[in-house]
Amino acid sequence: MLGPQLDLFVINDDIGKGLPLLTPKGTIIRNAILTYERKLEAEMGFSEVWTPNIAKSDIYKRTGHWDHYRDVMYAPFGIDNETYVLKPMNCPHHYMIYASRPRSYRDLPIRLSEPGTCYRYEKSGELGGLTRVRALTIDDSHILMREDQIHEEFDHCISMVRKMFAAFGLKDYFVRLSLNDPSDAVKYIADADTWKRAGETLETIIKDNELTYEAGRGEASFYGPKIDFMVRDAIGRLWQMSTLQLDLFMAKRLGLVYTDSDGKEKHPVILHRGLTGSIERTLGILIEHFAGAFPLWLAPVQVVIIPIAERHTEAARKAVESLRRAGIRTEADERNESMQSKIRDNTLQKVPYFGIIGDRETKDGTIAVRTRQGEDLKAMSLENFLIRIRNEIEHKL
Ligand SMILES: [Zn+2]
Repeated sequence: MLGPQLDLFVINDDIGKGLPLLTPKGTIIRNAILTYERKLEAEMGFSEVWTPNIAKSDIYKRTGHWDHYRDVMYAPFGIDNETYVLKPMNCPHHYMIYASRPRSYRDLPIRLSEPGTCYRYEKSGELGGLTRVRALTIDDSHILMREDQIHEEFDHCISMVRKMFAAFGLKDYFVRLSLNDPSDAVKYIADADTWKRAGETLETIIKDNELTYEAGRGEASFYGPKIDFMVRDAIGRLWQMSTLQLDLFMAKRLGLVYTDSDGKEKHPVILHRGLTGSIERTLGILIEHFAGAFPLWLAPVQVVIIPIAERHTEAARKAVESLRRAGIRTEADERNESMQSKIRDNTLQKVPYFGIIGDRETKDGTIAVRTRQGEDLKAMSLENFLIRIRNEIEHKL
């Protein structure tokens, strides 16, 4: 297990099974992923919201989650005279933001997004590291739109998923088209025509986006068919990550409406989008995928400055300060150890760059740069070093 060795997260029995605690380094990576996702979302017109971790249990009865999803929900609890639950998903909270004001056909699509932490029961035997947990943050979005906007919105989401996988160096993936089982009237809200239409729409979108796919009957959500991205990581494990779900039922069920161009009230359709599905699980996948050697944009410590002797400490501290001011996550290794052992220890911690400072560097105002792969980039000015690493960060190399 690389996670604890790299000091990225902790599982503590006194806190509980399946409840990972992210350390400062783990939190840096989690935030780097979220920052990148927020940038993608801002480019594509999403609006971030924030919603609480609990809600009244009645809302889940109205959505149908109570009937279909209850085995993964935790026991209800009382506040005053009302019954609440920990949220197992963010959908109802987002619907109520939509419903809070009148909406016109011109307002659509409305794209609400939130990294929303949810709580789900997983059997204790299935809990492991970060990949199966009882508290997970879904990089969630709900797009409420007109039917004529479905194709374009799915296209946008697929292109976001593709960009994100490229940034993570995940190249091997295909999609599963999860459809309803028409004979299972208990699980699936009954309306054969709507199900058929929704399934066909998703199949067309998959083909137009030239995605490799396979279809599975009886794997859909109770409210609609979905496209799940199945991703193979560097060590050959297959993960279900992004999910794009088409929901043609829930708006009607909850009375969510907009006023169309003809003045009539209509129900929007909803796209449920999980970008990776779970931020914490993604961190767990990426730890092993990169074998701990995160690319520079994700690395918790990006540069370690190593003074060769005590007389170089001041120059080292100045370099750390300058790099930190430039937004680079930098530490100084001032331990009373040889340069070789400092390089070895920081290589084990998979730090991408080392900046070594000795007599010559102190005099010239430079740093001697080495990579964790052992490449010697020779002495350079801080400005030139910054140009190099900023480019690497910007392009997610
Ligand atoms: Zn949802």
